[in-house]
Formats: sequence, C-alpha cells, structure tokens
Amino acid sequence: MRIVRKITVLVFCIVITYIALPFLISPIYDFSPPHTFEGKSFYNPYQDINTLQLLKANFHYHSNTWGIITDGRNSQNTAPNIKSKFSSHGYNMISISDYMSINPESPVRLYEHGMGAYKAHRLVMGSSNVLWLDFIPLHNVHHKQFMINLLKSDSNMIALAHPSWNNAYTPTDVKVLGNYDCFEIQNSNKESLALWDSALSAGKPVFLMADDDGHDIDDLGVTARIFTFLFAKDSSESSVIYALKRGQSMGVAIPWQWNPDTALRHAVHREILIPDTISYSQNTYYVHLPDTVKEIKIIGNQGRILKLANNINEISYPVLLSDSYVRTEITLKNEVVLYLNPIVRCDESLSKIDYPEVNIWKTIFIQIALWPLYIVSLFLFYRVMKAGKKTKITDLS
Ligand SMILES: [Zn+2]
Repeated sequence: MRIVRKITVLVFCIVITYIALPFLISPIYDFSPPHTFEGKSFYNPYQDINTLQLLKANFHYHSNTWGIITDGRNSQNTAPNIKSKFSSHGYNMISISDYMSINPESPVRLYEHGMGAYKAHRLVMGSSNVLWLDFIPLHNVHHKQFMINLLKSDSNMIALAHPSWNNAYTPTDVKVLGNYDCFEIQNSNKESLALWDSALSAGKPVFLMADDDGHDIDDLGVTARIFTFLFAKDSSESSVIYALKRGQSMGVAIPWQWNPDTALRHAVHREILIPDTISYSQNTYYVHLPDTVKEIKIIGNQGRILKLANNINEISYPVLLSDSYVRTEITLKNEVVLYLNPIVRCDESLSKIDYPEVNIWKTIFIQIALWPLYIVSLFLFYRVMKAGKKTKITDLS
C-alpha cells in the first residue's frame, strides 16, 4: 500500500503543478487604452484580389484523432472521408483542426489550442509543435494575452476560435488584447460579429475567419455550411497565412434551413455569388456583385448600420471622417450571407504591430505572492497524507 500511496502523492503533485504552472509564470500586462483606427487613407484588403487565386476553405473541422475522448468521435470522421465530403461541395482546402494535435493529412499545419473550462480556444496555423499548456480552471485578460503570446510566432497565425462562446472573450477583453491575427466571426457553435465590432472599434486590426467547427461529417446541420473564401497567391501554407493576416478573405454562412437535403446543399454552394469589385477611392467605398442580391448592409464603428439597400447589385457609401472602419454584409436571394472584411483607416499602410507591454513590477509582485502559496499548498498536502498514514497505523495497532 505504501507504493500506491507514494504514486498517488506524486500524481497529485504533478497534476497540481501542471494546473498551477501557467498562473505561476504569467505576467501582468499594461494594456494601452483602446483607440479607433486613425489616418487620412484606408487600407483595402481587397485591392489586389483580381490578381489572386480564389480558394474555398474550411479551417476548423475535427477528425476522430482522439477517439471517444473529444468530439470528433464519429468513426467515419477520418481525414480521407472529411476531404471527400468537402471536395464534393467544391472546397479547395479542407484543413483539419484537431484539438491539441496537428493532423499530418491537413494541407496546412493547424490545431485548435485550448483545454480550459471557458472555451477560450485558439486556432494555430503554421506551427510545428503543440503547446500543452493552458489556464484550465479560470482565466483573466492577462492570462488570455499570455497564452496568445506563447502561441504566437512571426511566421504562424493565431485566430480566436468562436470567441463569444461561453463569454470566453468579453467585449472588454477584445478591446485590449493584441498580438493575434484573426477572429472567427461565424462558427456553428457561436456567432461573434458584435464582439468583432468591439475589437475593430477599439482599433484592433484583426480579420475574419468563418468555419464549420464540425465533428461529424454526416451532420449536414454543421458540415459544409460555414466557410471562408480566400484570395491567395497559391494554396501553400505561407500564402494562406499571408492572405488571412492581410484580410484577403470573405466569410460565408449558409442558413440552417438548408440542412436536411444534400442535393439542395450542393445547389446552394453552386449558386453563391461573390463581389467582383470592392474598392475605396476618393472617399467612396463601393461594392459590386455580378447579379442582384436581397440585401446589402454597410456597417461601421460599434456595429452601427451606415447604409442598407435591397434588391440591388451594387452599393456605394461616402465615407465620413468619423468612420474608422467600414465593412459589408450581403444577403443573397437564397439567404446565404457573405461577410466582408473591413476597409480600415490608416496612413501609409496598416500597422499590425500591437503588443501589450509586460508590467515588470506588478508581475514580480504577483509571482512573489503566488509561488509561496503553491509551495505551501504542496507541503500541506504532503503533511495531510503523512498524518493519514500515521492514523491508519495507529488504528491497526
Ligand atoms: Zn473546434
């Protein structure tokens, strides 16, 4: 029994240390006060799209890698079956985003990072290794920034996955968090448009992604319903990351009512229209489509609707000095919704540099408080185990 007790103590200490470690090393940040995008001109992510390749992509889908442990347990959810299902709907890129695992059959290195109770997940693209660390029981905005910083490198891309889900990221958080690239505005679990407007209104240059986040290829309520159109040089990982970071993408969401019928779903995919012109010139923002759509909505600061028109194939909007960004949502006649990235106010070019600084003194203070707490907790646990052992020996005698 002694060996069992020792193993129990060791396992407990390892688990406690694993859970405690991120809290023990996390810094405190000085977040800059939010400020809107500023400048005399606008960055238009769609300026060069006519010279680029259009890719229809899903960047958030789970295979059965983890068997029964996580969602994605459907035995049919193998990488070849996922690819075949999406190819039949005309997708060019079917990237697999398993939890904490990079699937070798995914065309880009990708995984979904996050083990915490609050669903604060991140899509990590272009990294070779998985980071097995997270704030599991609770987290605050400093922890969220720290985790982003640990995951981020110059060459990879970080997106907040389904950020509104479970209030994993709040409007207050996204006004100050930095050093990430993209925002999953549409996901089968949660839509995050209002949160995206909070980030954009606070001058955060983060561009959209839209994905199924599917776990079962037979579930048409989720599979091949939400996706991203990408305008990239080619389908290589570096070109995909470059395009996503620059906002050369559009989100598409097919409504739920198309769910049950595979043939209808195929037809809807074939009928999707996309704009052929999205321009900004002489203070005018202009969007043109090859055919009439049901509705075009122009949206600005704080998600305010700036202009709305029905049954048209083009729209123009005279941009005001007070507009720090302008984005568009288009509803097609079949209710499919297209989400465009914003044009963003700037001077020469859009700065993506947005790193909150570490507050050294506050970090030292909090770590001086937390480390003794952790060591004392382990010591007390050891004493309790020892006392329990003595009590049992006394009982036996
Ligand atoms: Zn997921």
